[in-house]
Amino acid sequence: MNDAQKPVLVWFREDLRIADNPALFKAAETGAPMVAVFILDEESTGVRPFGSAQKWMLHHALTGLAKSLQDLGGSLLVRRGASEPILRDIIAETGADRIFWNRRYGPGEIAVDAKLKAEFGDSGVAAHSFLGALLHEPSRVKTGNGDPFRVYSPFWRALERMGEPRLPLPVPEEIAFLDNRPKGMEIVELGLLPVKPDWAKGLRDTWPNGEAGAHEMLAKFLDHGIHGYADGRDMPAAENVSRLSPYLRFGMISPYQIWHAAKAAEANARDREKFLKEVGWREFAYHLLFNFPDIGWRNFSERFDVFPWKEQSPDLKAWQRGMTGYPIVDAGMRELWHTGYMHNRVRMVAASLLVKHLLIHWKAGEEWFWDTLVDGDPANNPASWQWVAGSGADAAPYFRVFNPILQGRKFDPDGEYTRKWVPEIAALPDKYLHCPWEAPAETLLNCGIRLGKSYPMPIIDHDKARIRALDAFETLKKAI
Ligand SMILES: Cc1cc2nc3c(=O)[nH]c(=O)nc-3n(C[C@H](O)[C@H](O)[C@H](O)COP(=O)(O)OP(=O)(O)OC[C@H]3O[C@@H](n4cnc5c(N)ncnc54)[C@H](O)[C@@H]3O)c2cc1C
Repeated sequence: MNDAQKPVLVWFREDLRIADNPALFKAAETGAPMVAVFILDEESTGVRPFGSAQKWMLHHALTGLAKSLQDLGGSLLVRRGASEPILRDIIAETGADRIFWNRRYGPGEIAVDAKLKAEFGDSGVAAHSFLGALLHEPSRVKTGNGDPFRVYSPFWRALERMGEPRLPLPVPEEIAFLDNRPKGMEIVELGLLPVKPDWAKGLRDTWPNGEAGAHEMLAKFLDHGIHGYADGRDMPAAENVSRLSPYLRFGMISPYQIWHAAKAAEANARDREKFLKEVGWREFAYHLLFNFPDIGWRNFSERFDVFPWKEQSPDLKAWQRGMTGYPIVDAGMRELWHTGYMHNRVRMVAASLLVKHLLIHWKAGEEWFWDTLVDGDPANNPASWQWVAGSGADAAPYFRVFNPILQGRKFDPDGEYTRKWVPEIAALPDKYLHCPWEAPAETLLNCGIRLGKSYPMPIIDHDKARIRALDAFETLKKAI
């Protein structure tokens, strides 16, 4: 350590890990005494406050990070409030002259970081930012004309042309932490965990904690799930998906670590390529968010601005509670409520039911997912909702209305997933599981089901809903 150096700050945000963390690695290389900081900022203008399930995940991510830093001889300084005055305080308290962070891509977050970088520079504190959350900087991926991509396939081909992502960085061998560290809060004082009622039991049972938990999930996936991923990823009862999304959300694992581990794993080429291409969809969502920063609240395709969404529909509550009467949708919504996660195939069907059958604005669905998903993500969530609604870049065609009965039969043919989450109809034979209202009265009776009482009738008839949705979409054509 060079005693002559002033301290450096490492500002952790969406990168709650010590391995493959460029900001931490570069700050450690300076040899200067380090202060590691996390600020729960729900106050700065434009910053989107975390949803409830994300907060639960964040609490555990921070606990894991604090423990890792402790093992390295340091600690995590935790504070709450608007980032700028808090960082200024810490700089004044420590005399730090440099701050290191990894870049983030929400529009409000970019604005905060850009302002800080400029203002700190003016006051003699150098801000160094790094690429850590994405495989490629979104501003550097461009079409031949220098424009951002709007369609996934050419975007992916462009990524391939940019070559292999760099190798992951190790945990810094040595970090010289500042001896006399400023005081902060306990993580628990941030109030990220639910108090009453404690709805987090299902989350505790589902998600191993922190950076170590992320690597546990990755190892399990590469040992088992990846084998058959290309087809199995669509089957919600199969254990083929990685469930790495909440760990990516808070940077407990990096896409570089995932990329290179998947490349090195023994797996067949089709499964591996399919998985890497899904990781590519995350890159694409961030590319869209960076280049079209209002995708979180504005239709990407403006013609959807005149779509006749229903205002204040009571159907929203039934959908949120998993009481639509369409078993595959209800299974997904209950999996979400219980675990903070929903399988991608079921996310698509449940989202489609909300926007197309019930004609409820995608923003209402996006907000519910934002609050209830442990992986609620500023890029993936709105981009996916707009994809389903048909209003997005490279979106599903608006006239494709998922049939929740056929989707259930195709992707959960023996009903394992649906029976797990909708136990009140579990006794139904497979033939009727995805359409209980078609079961003969005697079958329902024998299975102990009273439709409309123990399980709802479908919230809307599928065929009628389809025609209604297509009629509504006709208004878009007239609007052009
Ligand atoms: C309506 C809707 C809302 C969604 N909201 C979110 C969200 O808030 N956060 C989120 O991370 N994902 C979201 N997704 C995308 C996708 O459902 C999840 O990324 C995926 O289910 C996560 O599970 P996994 O990690 O097991 O995926 P895997 O199949 O194992 O894929 C590995 C990784 O690739 C990325 N990925 C996979 N599929 C997609 C996709 N379709 N779009 C973008 N990235 C993808 C994720 O980072 C994922 O962790 C949403 C999808 C829909 C249809």
